[in-house]
Amino acid sequence: MLARRQHMRIGRHARLVGIGFVALAALGCAKDEGEGNTSNSTGTPIEPPPEPSANLDRNIQRTALTVDLSTMTGTAVLDLAGSLEDTGASFEAAGLEIQGVSRAEGPLKWTLAQGQLDVGVPKSLGSAQITVDYTFKEQAQFEGLMAKGSTLVWPYFCGNLFPCHSDPADGTTFELTVTGTPQGMTTLHPPAIGIDAPSYQIAWATGSYTKLDVGKTFQGTNLVAYYLPGGGTDAQKGTAVLVDVMNFYETMLGGYPFGGEAGAIAVDWGPGAYGGMEHHPLWHVSTIAMGDPWIQAHEAAHGWFGDGVRPACWEDFVLSEGTVSYLEARAITEVMGADEGMKVWSHYTTRLNTAMAGTAPKIAWPEGCGVVDLLKDQLFGDIAYMKGAFFFRALEAKMGKAKLDPSLKAFFLKHKGKAAHFQDLLDIIKSVGGYDPTACATAWLRSEMVPSEQVCP
Ligand SMILES: [Zn+2]
Repeated sequence: MLARRQHMRIGRHARLVGIGFVALAALGCAKDEGEGNTSNSTGTPIEPPPEPSANLDRNIQRTALTVDLSTMTGTAVLDLAGSLEDTGASFEAAGLEIQGVSRAEGPLKWTLAQGQLDVGVPKSLGSAQITVDYTFKEQAQFEGLMAKGSTLVWPYFCGNLFPCHSDPADGTTFELTVTGTPQGMTTLHPPAIGIDAPSYQIAWATGSYTKLDVGKTFQGTNLVAYYLPGGGTDAQKGTAVLVDVMNFYETMLGGYPFGGEAGAIAVDWGPGAYGGMEHHPLWHVSTIAMGDPWIQAHEAAHGWFGDGVRPACWEDFVLSEGTVSYLEARAITEVMGADEGMKVWSHYTTRLNTAMAGTAPKIAWPEGCGVVDLLKDQLFGDIAYMKGAFFFRALEAKMGKAKLDPSLKAFFLKHKGKAAHFQDLLDIIKSVGGYDPTACATAWLRSEMVPSEQVCP
């Protein structure tokens, strides 16, 4: 998420579900008494659809979305982990009106209450596929589809755009088709995300876009940028070193995991939001930050940390933003020189000091899993970003790049397309890098203080 924020409006995520949803749910049940579906075309008896029941743990394996912007309707085809015991499957859907849930053989039973869609899914050995037809609507800034035409559902607003699990532990592949774009505009998005990704990764942006070819990496990743009217100069400036940045990451961490084309889309987030969002392979950068190579390097690094490997719990948030902030500084130092690199670290020092003087909790890596509310509990903030970056810098000073870099690469290659804990990274630093970072991680990330030593002990 945003590398440098100014006036992010966060913390308003509690969403009361109106009575309209309840009425719709009741309608859905009444409508879907599918007792008529007792045999398929070959005459094999089909069990009647089960009653809806709750199960938010049912893994979503694949999410294929078709969205029509002119009617604000969507169809989500969801492949779910099969079960021979449990017929429940639940999804976040707080901002949606559900029109129907079905399988190939006909309607399924469902309810929608308190923003949660519960479906009755027939038992199956293999994957169970369901189709959810729904309508969605424009949302407040950074909580779904925004007025200026781009989407952002990080960290847990996916239920305002499609039926989903916002828990980052549950990754899904994506396919996306968007129709109904207003005339003269383009809607930009990747057609697919081919490896398991967190729900916050998929997005689209509608606008009057022009494409800039940025170049190709050593490994053949084609880099692009898309800008809005008047944004050509910024797009060129911000991506001037992007090929070198991506080459640095691909060499240091392993091949780019999200296909043959990647790059930045400029989005209008308004005057106060300076930064970007890791919507790989086409990450979003606010128009006012599009010309900033630091921001581009930051969002690019999320292809490996935050997206390529996603946090298993929000408590592991530092695995995404701490690591990426460090990588941003490394990449800028590498491709723009030591002086520019020192400017990044000087800026980070200011951010760390400001965060330490603020009111947010000072622990960057809280214990536990699934307890912290990233926004309400203010884990989203510069304590995680900056303490994380300086922790890695202290590790680098102790171990040397020659041992730290292969550790990061080994971690990425082992956990690519999966969820991981920050502890998993520490374990690999110990086994691959030959240094046990536990005490240093505790001092930097699980203490209220900032260690006085800039080198791990
Ligand atoms: Zn970030």
